[in-house]
Amino acid sequence: MNRFAARLAQDNIVLRHARTEILQVNVGKLCNLTCVHCHVNAGPKRKEIMTRETIERIIDWLAKTDIRIVDFTGGAPEMIPDFRHFVEQVKALQPSRHVIDRCNLTILLEPGYEDLPDFLARHRVEIIASMPCYTPDNVNAQRGEGVFDESIAALQLLNSLGYGIEPQLPLHLVYNPVGAFLPPVQAELEADYKRELKEHFGIVFNKLYTITNLPIGRFAAYLRHNNKLDEYMELLISAFNQATIDGLMCRNTMSVGWRGEVYDCDFNQQLDMQWENGASLFLWDVDPKKIHDREIMTGEHCFGCTAGAGSSCGGAIV
Ligand code: SF4
Ligand code: SF4
Repeated sequence: MNRFAARLAQDNIVLRHARTEILQVNVGKLCNLTCVHCHVNAGPKRKEIMTRETIERIIDWLAKTDIRIVDFTGGAPEMIPDFRHFVEQVKALQPSRHVIDRCNLTILLEPGYEDLPDFLARHRVEIIASMPCYTPDNVNAQRGEGVFDESIAALQLLNSLGYGIEPQLPLHLVYNPVGAFLPPVQAELEADYKRELKEHFGIVFNKLYTITNLPIGRFAAYLRHNNKLDEYMELLISAFNQATIDGLMCRNTMSVGWRGEVYDCDFNQQLDMQWENGASLFLWDVDPKKIHDREIMTGEHCFGCTAGAGSSCGGAIV
């Protein structure tokens, strides 16, 4: 039993899936950036991306469910050749589904993507954008030189299209710490972001989500390199908060990988914790009516989701 499962057992908790409200699709590891904290190890040279055939199979499966939200992540999801086709197919389902794009902002300014912001706005795609700070130093340190200025320009562009202003075009930002510490209080940080971005750059947005870095992928390598991995694990473990359990994203989300394989969350996906303990279980093998109450596969990284105010794709939990 891993230390997380043991901690849950201490409180007589078994972590189980509740109801699938969100299908989070990780379309691949291709990205225009190579951020220090990336749990996917994404980058410009990665070749693992979703094919058209896999997309069609996911759409067929989705059409038979009442899952309301499709949440695209990556990599930079917009970089796969069939990204727009995928969005159009999801929106064309009856009933139509809500689409979220987890966007690194800089992709919106890359050559060849000039019409992407307009495409997203036209299809009413919600944007959840990474923005680890409202000052250049922290952003550039974590995401690369020049990323801050590009992110600001991209946010201004999105505002000019109505994002963050019109109710049907939500724009949320994501903060994650630049080092081995927990995020500050979400509401307070959101107020700081709103004030600073408005005052200095005229930018508006809807919500700020604070997300804890989980000790996996490139962030774990970074911690190991700086001899901080054990210390960070201890910090997460000591901050365990039972009140976060009900709101953990693995309880209402299914995660799909670029080959169509199924996981409890994007973190488990990066750790190859595929359903059925690694046997080939793909989305199209899953009966959506039979996953209610299935036990979630956990590991020590899960302490990242239950530390302090908790952490999920929608930010703090409590
Ligand atoms: S954190 Fe996001 S933007 Fe950065 S390399 Fe990873 S996938 Fe790309
Ligand atoms: S990493 Fe978080 S979301 Fe994933 S299974 Fe563990 S607790 Fe759930």
